[in-house]
Amino acid sequence: MSTAASTVRAPDDGKSRLVSIFVGAVLLPSIALSYVSVRFARELTETRIHTDHRRAEKTLYYIERDLVQSAHAKALEAARAVGTETLLDGRLQAVRQALAGSGLDESMFEALHLEAPSIRIAGKATVGRDERPEDVRELMAVLGGSPREGEDQVPWLGSDGRPVGMLRFKFSCSYVHGRLVKEYFEREFVGLSQLVVRVTEPEGGPIYETAPTSSDQFEVERRMESPSFRGLKLALRYKDVSIAGDARRWQLWTLTLLGLIDLTLGAGLYLVYSNVRREMRLSRLKSDFVANVSHELKTPLALVRLFAETLELGRVPSKEKAAQYYRIINKESQRLTQLIDNILDFSRIEAGRKEYRLGPTDVARVVAEVVEAYRFPIEQQGFSLEVEVAPDLPEVIADQEALAQALLNLMNNAIKFSRGEKAILLRVTAEAGFVRIAVSDKGIGVAKAEQRKIFEKFYRAEDSLVHETKGSGLGLPLVKHILDAHGGRVEVESQPGQGSTFSLVLPVAGRG
Ligand code: ADP
Repeated sequence: MSTAASTVRAPDDGKSRLVSIFVGAVLLPSIALSYVSVRFARELTETRIHTDHRRAEKTLYYIERDLVQSAHAKALEAARAVGTETLLDGRLQAVRQALAGSGLDESMFEALHLEAPSIRIAGKATVGRDERPEDVRELMAVLGGSPREGEDQVPWLGSDGRPVGMLRFKFSCSYVHGRLVKEYFEREFVGLSQLVVRVTEPEGGPIYETAPTSSDQFEVERRMESPSFRGLKLALRYKDVSIAGDARRWQLWTLTLLGLIDLTLGAGLYLVYSNVRREMRLSRLKSDFVANVSHELKTPLALVRLFAETLELGRVPSKEKAAQYYRIINKESQRLTQLIDNILDFSRIEAGRKEYRLGPTDVARVVAEVVEAYRFPIEQQGFSLEVEVAPDLPEVIADQEALAQALLNLMNNAIKFSRGEKAILLRVTAEAGFVRIAVSDKGIGVAKAEQRKIFEKFYRAEDSLVHETKGSGLGLPLVKHILDAHGGRVEVESQPGQGSTFSLVLPVAGRG
């Protein structure tokens, strides 16, 4: 019976927990809040439109009241010019004559007369003071109730301020259209420049407009009830913007603001999320690091102990075998030294205590020294090492030890991550203002997506081949730190399965 092997990847608990915390605690409440805010802004817009309409209606009501009051004042003024006697007589002909005699427009009224039971014509006023009505209500009662159909009325006051009669009148249509309305608006409407009021005939066209306007869209309208005005229509609008337009503009502005707040919130959330994720990844990498380093330390130590014991006990069959054991001990202790150097350097960098002793450096000499020390162990592991150093390289300002350590890290990686073809090419060249030390291998390569990440501390590529090789994930970050401190850079060119070239690019001394 064959058993099918299957691998089950453990769910990334940390990540999904983080996502659910963010969705539950932050994202959903934010979405709910945005939804409520948008609805609220919409409702507020409707309320605003409604309130502004009410305000416009009220304004128009006050304009009408004012216009009617000014007409009453005008009628009283004209009546006083006409005189009580003619008014009590009430014949239109006589009234017109009196008006003309006073220099007023004789065709002002269609009707103008005074009803005052307590006053007799031609000086025959006999009624006693106490029989006169006390106020308008009493006067109305004496006059027998409601005003006459189609006429306006205004109380006629005696010299003591008590009403003695009722002045009844109706302005002529031509006077209302031609003067009354115009005079009122020209006199009273000066400060209200943001409003436009149009007066139109009940069935006809406009007779007056406070400011010229091309639009027929008025916010509110009302029909005048005063008989002198014969149902004229008043309409009001705002000059620059309509109520709805203004409210929509406010709504747009509010929604834009909400959108901006949401965007900022989203950006903030993303930042927090990515930082927390980063921290989580870092702590996972750190624990991987501890496991890797422990293994890295244990393996060479175990080998060193095993071969040292074998040699000590004299259990070596031949001189060649003894030489091989010494080589292994030497190689493993070199590996240990380099690992420990990396870790120590890295902890110095982290603590901000890493110092470089910079001085004029001959790159060719540093490279030659590293090659001399490591050629033998490299070739022992079956690698071919080709070195090409351009003649007359310019000097660089560098810490020789740190530069050697960076180069060694690159060469070690070239060895660690080569499988089939074991060839290393070390090429040193000069280019405009820089010296380039390139280490090429024909190993497993690095995927494009990981070429930046491998310079982050503890990071090791996801490739399973990489995980067969133990490492600390500290080598390249250290190399990068060294090159940054020298004002240089590390470059990588790599194709998975084809090999990699890592280059140290150092600025030439005196440049910049
Ligand atoms: P370590 O080698 O200890 O894992 P490094 O920081 O030196 O740590 O390297 C980080 C990662 O970069 C490695 O784990 C590997 O995935 C990748 N890498 C570095 N050098 C090479 C190379 N020459 N070829 C392929 N991959 C490499």
